[in-house]
This record gives sequence, structure tokens and C-alpha cells, in this order.
Amino acid sequence: MLQMVGKKIATANKALKALRKNGHKVGRLKYLHSEDYNSFTYNQSGFDITAVDGQLWLSKIGKLKIRLHRQVQNIKQVTVKREGKRRWYAIICCELAEPIFKFIDISKSVGIDVGITKFVHDSDNHEVENPLFLKKMLKPLRRASRQLSRRQKGSANYQKAKNRLQVLHERIKNQRMDFLHKQSSSYSARYDLIFLEKLLRVLNMTKNHRLARAILDSGWVTFGSMLKYKAKHLVEVYSPNTSVDCSHCGNKVQKSLAVRIHRCDKCFLVLDRDHNAALNILQRGLKSLAATKSSLPMERREVTPVETEKSVKQESIEAHDFSSRG
Ligand SMILES: [Zn+2]
Repeated sequence: MLQMVGKKIATANKALKALRKNGHKVGRLKYLHSEDYNSFTYNQSGFDITAVDGQLWLSKIGKLKIRLHRQVQNIKQVTVKREGKRRWYAIICCELAEPIFKFIDISKSVGIDVGITKFVHDSDNHEVENPLFLKKMLKPLRRASRQLSRRQKGSANYQKAKNRLQVLHERIKNQRMDFLHKQSSSYSARYDLIFLEKLLRVLNMTKNHRLARAILDSGWVTFGSMLKYKAKHLVEVYSPNTSVDCSHCGNKVQKSLAVRIHRCDKCFLVLDRDHNAALNILQRGLKSLAATKSSLPMERREVTPVETEKSVKQESIEAHDFSSRG
């Protein structure tokens, strides 16, 4: 079989050589094993979906039975992807007829603080435990990788062990994605405006080897990108010291990671540490949004009394600045 493929490549390469002689820019062909790639793409043509019997037709492959999740039309691209050993997906890109404008109610806003013990704690004091799926599966994972390392590479038993490990990783990924999808959907259904702490620091925090696994297991970055496309409007707030500052009076209350309660000695506010951080994110987010109104497109805005009051304050501050300068 391999010899045949080799011969075919050799003849193809000869043909390419002839093309090159004629001034065409062509590289060499090479043999790709089915293990070497996990996806291929059809651009513009070579595919069709018959909605009646839910079948996907692909050029050079034929008709395939698929589970169609939603109605699609005006398809521009189809990518076929293999996940693990068992599952195949078709990712279908469509051109939408017209953009959908959504009105945003600013009173429906929330600030979200993400963490390791609690996955989220928001400004409405709602909290969700962090399931840490990888952590729960570490024991079977270690067992499976140990088994794999003891098999002879390339043998049938090696392949079996490899499949077992792959299935475990797939299960963890599916559990995590399911959880993240449910959380991000619930937030984007309940709120119009979502403020999330900018997760730039995540990569920095993974340098701490004690925290790295738990952080990457949490999937905050994926959560953020899911919110980005699901929510009506997501604002990433860059705000240092969210857990230090008092959300009521702005007083700085230094505390170590172990201290879970925020106690302000100025205004005597006692709050959960993460709730305080979420309130800070919400407040700073709203402030930054009021300062740069352009970040929310006009046609998508619904001005609320709170906002009008804020913008009046903002203007008076600006006027004051102007007069003091003059
Ligand atoms: Zn305070």
C-alpha cells in the first residue's frame, strides 16, 4: 500500500517538475498519514446540505448522515473535523442576511469576578463552585498514561492504551465545555451588559506552578470568548486592585489570598472578598463606559435615568476642569 502511494507521489512530482519548467511556482508533494491531520476544509463549493433527510454531501466523499442542529442557509465554508477517535464534526460557516441589532438596557448589568475555588462570583452575590474537571480525573489519567508508557510503541496494545487516554481527555474537555456553555448562556440570558475582569493576568498567573493547573482547568479564557459572542455586550475591564479596594468607600484594605472576607475599617463594610471584587469591576466598568460613550453604538443604547445622571456629573467635572485650567 505504502509503495503504491510512494509511486503515485513520484509520478505526481514528475508532473510538478514539468509545471515548474513552464514557469509555475509549485512545491513538492508529500505523503500525509491520516494521523497527521485532523481536519479539512471545503471553500465556496464542494458541499451541499439536504435539509429533508439531514444529509451532508461532500465532493469526493459522498453523502453523509449528520445531526443537523439548526437551519442553515447561504453556506460559505464547510470544515470537517475529527475529535479524538470517535467523533466527527462538520463546522458550517454561513453568511447572515442582515445584522441583528439588540437594544441594551444598562440597568441589566453585572460585574463578574472569576476565581479558583469559586468559578464565578458576581455583583448580585451569585456564586458558582469551580468543578475543576481535570483535577477529579487526575487519578485515571495517571493510570492511563502509565499504561501507555509501558506498551511497546507501534503495537496493537500501544494503540489501545493510546485510545483509552484520548477518550479520558475527551471526556474532561466535554464536561468542561458543557459547564462553560451553561454558565455563559445563563449570564447572557439574564444580563444585557456584562463586565468581566481583563484576563491578561491569567497567562502571568500560570507561571506560578502551584496555581497553573487549576487556572487552566477553570477555562476562564474560553468563558470570556463564549460571553463575547453570546452576550449583547461584553466589556473587559482592566482594573488592578479589585480585591483590595473597598467597593463602598474606595479605602484600600490589604489582604492575603487566604482572607476571604472584606472588612473595611473606614465605612465598616463587611462583604465576601469576591463579591467586593465583582462590585468593583461593575462600578469601574460602568464608569469607563460613561467616559467613552463611543464604545457602545448609539443605535444599541437605551439611556436610563442612572446613566443620564452620570453623564451630567461627568460634564460638570469636565466644565470644572476647564474653568480651573483657564
Ligand atoms: Zn469602605
